[in-house]
Amino acid sequence: MKPLRIGVLAVQGNFREHVQMLRRLGAEAIEVRKPEELAGLDGLVIPGGESTTFMRLMGLYGLDEAIRAFDRPVFGTCAGMIVLDRDHLGLVDVAVRRNAFGRQVASFEADVPVAGEERPVRAVFIRAPWIEEVGPNVEVLAEIDGRPVLAREGRFLVAAFHPELTEDTRLHELFLESVREASSVDSAELDQRAKVPALPAPGAGVNVRA
Ligand code: GLN
Repeated sequence: MKPLRIGVLAVQGNFREHVQMLRRLGAEAIEVRKPEELAGLDGLVIPGGESTTFMRLMGLYGLDEAIRAFDRPVFGTCAGMIVLDRDHLGLVDVAVRRNAFGRQVASFEADVPVAGEERPVRAVFIRAPWIEEVGPNVEVLAEIDGRPVLAREGRFLVAAFHPELTEDTRLHELFLESVREASSVDSAELDQRAKVPALPAPGAGVNVRA
């Protein structure tokens, strides 16, 4: 099986840790700094960092429009979740509050129960946001004190924390599964199209002399 090609936005922030984790899981991880580097990718990770810096640099390089046009699964963590929200790229129907846990408790770790997982996920929060409002198609997968911190909407997965900073690979695996599913749906559609015989031209093969 061909390895999945996953881009990691590498304009700023902790993209290296995502790259390492994706490679550990057998994916081909590619650092993305220019719009054309999105071509041919099966999925994209937008890492943590500083969302204002991300927005500025993405605008400068034309990556904002390129990411809006990118139609594969996307995983945004921390600042990556902020840039995907209603107020930034507008790709995920959530309102996110930046630095929501307060500056005093800027950084902490917690074991977070995640829907569909038997064991909680060890989550590292660094000046983390939380999700304040979710649209009707958003599925909340984890909360802390009633605040959503992990959610999915269609091909988008967003986390308020940093799954790339622990040894726990389950969220990256969850993301890769959705990438694999999206890719197999596509190739099944292609196969299907290849199998449909071309329609005869109107009137072709019909005896029109009568
Ligand atoms: N506080 C940062 C922001 O608002 C996010 C922090 C992070 O990504 N670790 O962009």
